[in-house]
Amino acid sequence: MGLKLEIVTAESPVFSGEVDAVIAPGTMGQFTVLPHHAALMTMLEPGELCLRVAGQETFMAISGGYLEVIDEKVIVLADAAERADDIDDARAQAAMKRAQDQMKRPLSPAESAAAEAALRRSLARLRVSERRKKRRGDRI
Ligand code: ATP
Repeated sequence: MGLKLEIVTAESPVFSGEVDAVIAPGTMGQFTVLPHHAALMTMLEPGELCLRVAGQETFMAISGGYLEVIDEKVIVLADAAERADDIDDARAQAAMKRAQDQMKRPLSPAESAAAEAALRRSLARLRVSERRKKRRGDRI
């Protein structure tokens, strides 16, 4: 028996289905949820969320949020979540450049945290998109 995974954002449901494992970017580092996991509620960092189904891994970009494990159900409430096919590379590149340029300037702690979070979101999107291209053997 697998885990029932639901990924939702404020805008829409993103994924709902049975998975064997979820690997998520927690604030304390990456962690894996397998069936029979203890109940858990934790915050997520911007990063890659991996779903494993029958040995196949699917990656999504997550912009932070919460993950809850209860019984055999995993609920991810994400600020934003994109599947590889929905990622606009040029937009993520532009966001990365903007965040990097901003980080070169003197910033307040809040501005600095915002720029760092924007950088992480853009890098997560670029990594997820890059994995898809590698899988397809399409390097263009
Ligand atoms: P940007 O500065 O380009 O808006 P952002 O990291 O500030 O990037 P978010 O606030 O995380 O964007 O997301 C706003 C909405 O835009 C969400 O619905 C998110 O899924 C979508 N989004 C953001 N960047 C991309 C991208 N590169 N490709 C596809 N969708 C994106």
